[in-house]
Amino acid sequence: MRPLNHLILLSEPEPTGPEPFGQDGRLLAFASWMGIPAKAVPLRNSQEGSALPDRLLNEFEAGSCALAISAETLADHASIADELQRFLRQCASALLVFGCTNAERHLRAIARLTGGMISGSEFPGADSVSFSFPQSAVSFSQQLAGLGYLGRYEEPIFAFEAQDAAAADVIMAANEAAVFLRMDRGSSPLFLLSMPLPDLDQTLDAELELQEHYHRLIPLLIFLRQCFGASCWHGPESTARLIIDDPLLTEQYGFLEHSVLMKSMEHSGYGTSIAFIPWNYWRTSRQNAGLLGEQSNFAICVHGCDHTNKEFAIRDSALVDRKAGLALRRMELQRQRTGAAFEPVMVFPQGLFSRAAIAALRAHDYLAAVNTSVFPTDGAPEGLIVADLLQPAVTKYDGFPIFQRRYPRRLFDFAFDLFLGRPALVVEHHEYFREGVETWQDFVAEMHKLDPTLTWPGLADQLMRSCRRRNASNGSIEIQFYTRKFFWSNREPDTRNFSLCKQEPNAASIESVSVDGESSEFSFENGFLKLEVQAGPGETHGIEIVDREHPQERANGFGLAHNARVMLRRGLSEFRDNTLSRHDGLLKIAKGIVRGLKVTGDA
Ligand SMILES: [Zn+2]
Repeated sequence: MRPLNHLILLSEPEPTGPEPFGQDGRLLAFASWMGIPAKAVPLRNSQEGSALPDRLLNEFEAGSCALAISAETLADHASIADELQRFLRQCASALLVFGCTNAERHLRAIARLTGGMISGSEFPGADSVSFSFPQSAVSFSQQLAGLGYLGRYEEPIFAFEAQDAAAADVIMAANEAAVFLRMDRGSSPLFLLSMPLPDLDQTLDAELELQEHYHRLIPLLIFLRQCFGASCWHGPESTARLIIDDPLLTEQYGFLEHSVLMKSMEHSGYGTSIAFIPWNYWRTSRQNAGLLGEQSNFAICVHGCDHTNKEFAIRDSALVDRKAGLALRRMELQRQRTGAAFEPVMVFPQGLFSRAAIAALRAHDYLAAVNTSVFPTDGAPEGLIVADLLQPAVTKYDGFPIFQRRYPRRLFDFAFDLFLGRPALVVEHHEYFREGVETWQDFVAEMHKLDPTLTWPGLADQLMRSCRRRNASNGSIEIQFYTRKFFWSNREPDTRNFSLCKQEPNAASIESVSVDGESSEFSFENGFLKLEVQAGPGETHGIEIVDREHPQERANGFGLAHNARVMLRRGLSEFRDNTLSRHDGLLKIAKGIVRGLKVTGDA
């Protein structure tokens, strides 16, 4: 199917009430958010003649539109099913029928549209429904194919039944019954969906994040990508990285053995960053700094400053600013003394951060934060919404990017990251390697199976290339990027105009923007910084956004007494990681004591 360029929603002549217009509204909003021009075209209410407006028929014939209609609207206009069939046969288009339920009128309308090939039945929802993406539909579900997950769905679930199973591709199933399928109608695909549509503005639960929205998001993303290809916003590259928190730069830390890790990286083709605690800067030898060889795909980034309890969750702007500055200064001193280069990316201790911490990272020119949670501890009551997490990074706070990482527990979540075009960032601690590296190597192999194009660039490099991209109808390419330094390549065979944008809520904080080191013009629109760059085929270009000078105090330490307390904390943590972790009974007792003291704050 060649890419289409408009989505037409066939709607009621006078939409009223929240449902089904609520679903119609969600579809239009989601398509627009994906970069697809979308509009509602009301059907005629006449009993005579065609219900489809003439204007639409002309657009159809140009083969440029995909269509969508709710099962409710389809049922309201009995003859439209025949007209739609005729058009799908004649024109290369696509049709999505959404909101299908077990209502008799829906069943009748679907049977009429599919020539009696599709019927269905309903079963009760449950706390734990098994959603799956059959391998046979890999050309639709891509990285998700062959995988599944357990999710809550308490409403009744309507499942489609195809008279001839070979005539329909099941793309998504709930408890093995089809809830999203595709079949051919003439030269066009027909998609049938019984799951509800996603609401981009819905507030996210900080624990469940997007997980409770997968069943709504994935079918619509698949439909739009199938119809509109590269005109939809998409992530052009699949990248991943392992981040191990806390170790010192030594041959062995707890269960992590450097030489074993090196061999494993080479064997399985992955890359690792150590989230290094800056307080330890004076403990790295020049010899151990040599572990960070350029050939080895092994690097360090910044993990807190002293790594004390809730260190970056504090709301005191001046204090957190000082910590952000001191952390960088220590990493820089370590680099000067030992040659240990580092990536200016922050991993927050215990995964906790305040909004003041984000402002501090921006003020000190960090590139990004990478964190298990993207929710600040003092976020606004309305918090983050679905749309915020459908992108590679959250830039809602001060325009500063927070990339999300996860523990390697459920493959499906990483598949979803890659499906969305987000970097797949994996977090672990030394204990994960207690039984060796095989479990992790198996996980890496699974990730490569999901996406054979997966690469493991350095962390900063990976984040500086993360973007959403789409081909505009005028031939130019639009890119939304997230980091203050950004690199991209023109992979087209000819010279193209690139329209680049980055969310920047505070225009006054930007001093200049350069492209390949040369000052460039830029503008602001609706909270986004925008610039245009022309690039020849195969060219790679780099952008840098420079903030206005930020009055900074010299990042001095916090005094001897503070340092002594930190030393005690670090000493206890390392005793735990290196010694106690090898003796389960002792470890349990020690953890109790340490919790009582509230000193280590490790995670
Ligand atoms: Zn930590």
